[in-house]
Order: sequence, then C-alpha cells, then structure tokens
Amino acid sequence: MTTTTAEYPAESHVFEADVARLLHMMVHSVYSDKDVFLRELISNAADACEKLRYEAIATPALLASDADSRIVLTLDEEGGRLLVEDNGIGMSRDEMIEALGTIARSGTRAFMERIEASKQGEGAQLIGQFGVGFYSCFMVADRVDVVSRRAGADSAWLWSSDGKGGYSVSPIDVSEAPVRGTRITLHLMDDAKSYTSRWSIERIVKEQSGHVPVPIKIAEKPG
Ligand code: ADP
Ligand code: MG
Repeated sequence: MTTTTAEYPAESHVFEADVARLLHMMVHSVYSDKDVFLRELISNAADACEKLRYEAIATPALLASDADSRIVLTLDEEGGRLLVEDNGIGMSRDEMIEALGTIARSGTRAFMERIEASKQGEGAQLIGQFGVGFYSCFMVADRVDVVSRRAGADSAWLWSSDGKGGYSVSPIDVSEAPVRGTRITLHLMDDAKSYTSRWSIERIVKEQSGHVPVPIKIAEKPG
C-alpha cells in the first residue's frame, strides 16, 4: 500500500496529445502479442540499473548499502496484479512527468509517423516492429501505478494512470518507498490475469529477456 502525504494532494496532469493518441491506439489494437509489454518494462528496468552503475562511478554513495542490481517480478494472483521492480537510478518527480507523460524519444515519434501514414489495421503489426516502450503496459492493465525514488533523493513519488486522459503525481512517504529505484504495479485487465502465473512469466522472460544483464527474480506475493 502507498499513501500520499496529506500536505500535498495528488496533482492531475493531462497526457500530451501524441501520448493520448498512442495509448488509445494501443488499448484498442487487436495486436495479439501483448507479451511484449514485459520485455519493455524489463528493458527499462535494466537501463535504469545501467544508468545507476554509470552515475555511481563518480558518486559511489548512490549505491548506498544495496550495490547489486536486480529486477523483481512479483505475482499477485489474488489481487490480479503484476509488479515489476528495479533498484536502478529511479526517477525524480520532474523526470517522471517528462518520461511518462510526453513522447520525447525518437523511436516513438517515428512509430507515430508510421501509424499516421499507415492504412487502417496496420497499427497492430507496427507495435511489434517498433517496440513502443512503457505505454505498452496499457495493453494489459487498466491502471498502472509507478512509485519511484531517485538514487540519493529523500523524496519518492507515485505516478498513476488509467491510460485514458491523463495521470496523477503525488508524493509518497519515503518509509513506504524502496531505498531507490522504481516499482511498477500493473492492475491487470480481466483478460490478462494470466500474467500472474509463474509458468507464463517464466516463459515470457526466457523468450524475450534472456539477454538482460541484470538478474531477474520472480516472487510470489505472500498470503
Ligand atoms: P525508452 O526506454 O526507449 O526511453 P520507454 O517508453 O520505454 O522509452 O520509457 C520512457 C522513459 O521512462 C525512459 O527513457 C526512462 O527515462 C523512463 N523510465 C521508464 N521506466 C523506468 C525505470 N524502471 N526506471 C527509471 N526510469 C524509467
Ligand atoms: Mg524502454
């Protein structure tokens, strides 16, 4: 559970128009290989661990007492949730708003341009070709919560969205946040509950993320 601190209520933001279009397309696409969302989240988690390693060359204190990179996938079958957590660099509030509310990266821009130029129905194949990053988790989740704490920061933030018009950002109690890094909670859609099955997740990780240079653990939520 994460609670927001009383002094700062959640702030609402609307998605940049391109993000809203991309999300709409993603959610309504008939693209069948929804498994790619996990590859995208794991690749972001591994990138975050790599960035931390790099920044820690100049600032070893960033590693605190937790020097070993890891990615943990937690299966919450009862709650219908899948959690993807890393102890990488994390994001500040402003970085979250920039990274998860706008389309800054060139790959997604190129993807949107192709979509714009493509015929009806071609979008589905394009998702597979491009690898559309973080937003692909809205193919399987109707709410996504991202808790993040940047390495060395004494504040942590919760980004939350249903993938429709916008998202909220609120500060959370650091005592409830990891020491650093990012925890993404996917509240799975009814037809995506199989992503809490260890067998499915192990298969997808093996198929798509075998080369990731950070150890990936799979945990079951106790109780
Ligand atoms: P890309 O990985 O190509 O940059 P994504 O859509 O996958 O695009 O992610 C967008 C951005 O969100 C990343 O560039 C990064 O800044 C931020 N981000 C996503 N996941 C994480 C994470 N686990 N830790 C830190 N930053 C993240
Ligand atoms: Mg990515």
